[in-house]
Order: sequence, then structure tokens, then C-alpha cells
Amino acid sequence: MEIAVIGAGPVGLMLAAELRLGGAEVVVFDRRAAPDERPRANGLVGRIVEQLDHRGLLERFRAEAAFTGPFPGLPFGPVPVTTPVPGLMLQQPRMEALLTGRARELGAEIRRGHELVALDTVRGPDGEYRLDARYVVGCDGARSRVRELAGIGFPGTTDGELMRLGHFRGDLPLFGSGLARGWNRRPGGRVLVTSLAPGVVVAGVREMAPEPAGEPTLAEFRAAIRRVLGEDLPLGEPLWLSRTVSSARLAERYRAGRVFLAGDAAHLFPAGGSSLNVGLLDAVNLGWKLAAVVRGSAPESLLDSYHAERHPVAARTLTQTRVQALLDRQTGEDGDALRTLFGELAAFPDASRHLGELLRDADELPYVTDLPLTVDGEPTRVAEIMRAARTVLFDFADRADLRDAAGPDVKIVTASCPDAPADALLVRPDGVVTFSGDDPASLREALAAPGR
Ligand SMILES: Cc1cc2nc3c(=O)[nH]c(=O)nc-3n(C[C@H](O)[C@H](O)[C@H](O)COP(=O)(O)OP(=O)(O)OC[C@H]3O[C@@H](n4cnc5c(N)ncnc54)[C@H](O)[C@@H]3O)c2cc1C
Repeated sequence: MEIAVIGAGPVGLMLAAELRLGGAEVVVFDRRAAPDERPRANGLVGRIVEQLDHRGLLERFRAEAAFTGPFPGLPFGPVPVTTPVPGLMLQQPRMEALLTGRARELGAEIRRGHELVALDTVRGPDGEYRLDARYVVGCDGARSRVRELAGIGFPGTTDGELMRLGHFRGDLPLFGSGLARGWNRRPGGRVLVTSLAPGVVVAGVREMAPEPAGEPTLAEFRAAIRRVLGEDLPLGEPLWLSRTVSSARLAERYRAGRVFLAGDAAHLFPAGGSSLNVGLLDAVNLGWKLAAVVRGSAPESLLDSYHAERHPVAARTLTQTRVQALLDRQTGEDGDALRTLFGELAAFPDASRHLGELLRDADELPYVTDLPLTVDGEPTRVAEIMRAARTVLFDFADRADLRDAAGPDVKIVTASCPDAPADALLVRPDGVVTFSGDDPASLREALAAPGR
């Protein structure tokens, strides 16, 4: 087997599809016998939305999403950011169903009910068997077994604040207590009331408290609401209850020999909204590189650029989400002062743009923008050309010398573009621009560079 992906969560499924597009054989293993139907994320925010467009997946997501388009006023902790950020609203189980369909369509094998128990052993319904894979990628979530087996440290902090969330049958508005839709701050914590679908109320409560053992219960949820609010909420029948403690953690390394980490296995952020963006983009960065190496069209050293490129993105996201969590969590007059001044600063246009960029993507690599192109007389978009997940040379000046320098592995697109930034652009399958210019020797250098 060329590549074993451990975990059929969103990140493992995205990676499987990217690997298949790159021409690699992949088997995905998940210990759950059936997909995880718990709601969890309500949508996607950030550059992953553009990346879905680069893979022709955005239309499928859009068709089911309650909202698609730039989110105005996205919260940075408790402070709204006026710079719009791309996003879409779709429940995580639906995202996973769409990604499963895509991975299967492209030929990925998904084995459910198969748990990785050692780096070379899987336990399936008929017992243990040997896993003989050239590369193993741990997309196995926060408590990653792959991370543990590879001996990769996961330093950071775990919060003392417990969050209980639930979906309940009923309609808004239901509530007294001066509650507004969204998170409501009280001296002892915060209470959420909102609705994302008719007939379903989403309620939550955050307080500083130790995590109890066992499954979350309705009695425990109600008691927490009473402690924070000083009274009960008239909530209907619970459809789903969860209890989470947020953590701020980052794997020391994303690679240990033939083992890689991606998604929650590699990073946990203490504020919502960024985990799927960063995790799915890990998969897009790693997929084409692993596929190129197993196909023999790139050297092993290309794989080191995965940690070099993605670890700093998660580190920066950790910084911004720690600040969001702190802004949210700080209580009393100190907290009010912090939020007031941060809100004033965030309203300056440059500050708002900076926060918007952090929420969109804390990545500093240069990504191709969706330039309007004409190819063979037909109008098209960069996103459509990137669907094959190949490295592309966009030749905007009909330059045979640049086309010759690109070599056989590169897809050549001769296009006219009124906004072309240079004679040619070389774009990796994940959208990173590695060359922008007119000199064939520099193009050859870009193609030979470690992170080409
Ligand atoms: C209540 C809640 C709300 C959230 N809201 C948001 C949000 O709004 N926005 C956002 O971006 N994120 C949100 N998240 C976080 C988001 O759900 C995760 O970031 C995302 O699920 C991570 O995807 P993943 O594929 O890395 O890991 P997971 O989704 O955790 O998938 C890991 C998979 O690995 C499998 N697995 C584990 N161990 C093994 C093993 N040994 N062998 C085989 N399989 C194994 C598991 O069964 C699982 O299917 C939320 C999470 C929760 C709990």
C-alpha cells in the first residue's frame, strides 16, 4: 500500500481525495463503524472556501449550504471584524458526507470499523492484520494515536473553562432573563441561545469548572445554566448534547520519518472557526507532495516542506485564537476594559484588515488569485484550471522559451489576461505561486527549489 490515512474525519477524507488526484493509491482507516453524525462545526471560514472552488467542490457545498459568501462582521472573540471573510454555513456531518462521496468517486478505499493499534497494525472486524504502508498520515483527531505512536510531543495548555452545547427542539424567541441571540455574558460565565434551523434551538453554557466523567446529561446541562444565569431556560427535548474543554496545542513536528500529522491531530485551537480551515488546508498542502513522491516525480526532500510551510500557519493561528479566547473569557471590569479597547482598535481599517486576514488564513505564502482568463477564445477562471490539481505554468505572453523551461510534468496554459502580473506564473497544485516573471533560468530554479 502506498499511503495509509488514519481517520475518515473531514481532514482524512480531503487528503484522500487530494492523493487520488495526484495519482497515489490510498486507503483510509477509521475505527468508527459509521460516519460521525454529531453536529460539531456549523460551517467553513477562510481560504479553504477558495480551495474548494479550485477542486470543483464549492458548487456541491453551496448547493447544501444555508449561506455562502463573504461573512460580514465575523466575530474575533467577542469583537466583530468588519473586513469580510469568505465562508459558508453547512453542518459538519453533511460536509463529511460530501467529502466521502468525492474521495470514493476518485477511487479512495475507505475501511470503517478498522482501528490503528500500532503503526504497522490495524484491528478490523475479523481481528488484527498487518499494515504495510510506505507512508502513514495521522488525521485521527485530538487524541491522535498516530501522534503518540510516532513519539511526537503535543505541548500547550488545556483550558479550565468547560463548554456545554446542545441542540433542542423548539423555536426562538423563548427566553426571558434579558437574553440576546448569541453568547450572553454573566459574572459566572456565558450562555448561548440561537437557532440555525427552524424548530431547533442551539443553547450553550461556558463556566470555569472541572470536566465530569461520563456522557453529558440534560440534568448537568440545566444545572450549569442555572449556575451561570441564576434561573432555568425553558428548553425543549434535547437532540444532541456535548461537553468540551478547549485546548491550545501544537504538535512539535508534523513529520517523523514516514509518518505525518494533519488536522486536529497536529493542532488544537482554543477558539472556534479556524480548525477546519487550517486542517483541510494541511491536507491540500500535503496531498500533492506525497503523491508526487510516490509517483517518483519529486524527491523525498519535498516532504520536509510540509512541516516548514504548515507548522508556522498553525502557530500563528494558535496565537490569534488564544487572544480570541482571552478576550472572551476575561471576567469582571478588567475584561470589560480589555474588550472595549480591543473593539476600538479593531475598528481602524488597517487593524480590521489584519484581523480579517488572520481569520481568512494565517498563511504568508503567495497564493494565486482568481484572475479572469481567456483560453482558446473562451473565458475561464484560474480556479477551473486548478481542478486537475497539477502544477500549472500560466503563459500570458506566448513565450515558447518559458514553456520549454517548464518541462514535461507541468501543465501549460497559454492564456490572455488583462490583469496578468507577469509574462508567466508557475502555480503549485495547492495554489502557491512559486514563480512570477519572464526569465526561463529563474523558472528552472523555481522548479528545482525544495518546495516547488
Ligand atoms: C462542539 C464542536 C463544535 C465545533 N465547531 C467548529 C467550528 O465551528 N468550526 C471549525 O472549524 N471547527 C469546529 N469544531 C472542530 C472540528 O469539528 C474539528 O476541527 C474537526 O472535526 C477535525 O477534523 P479531523 O479530520 O482533523 O479530526 P476528527 O474529525 O476528529 O476525525 C478523526 C477521525 O479519526 C478516527 N480515529 C481516531 N483514532 C483512530 C484510530 N486509532 N484508528 C482509526 N481511526 C481513528 C475517528 O474515529 C475520527 O473519525 C468543533 C468541534 C466540536 C466538538
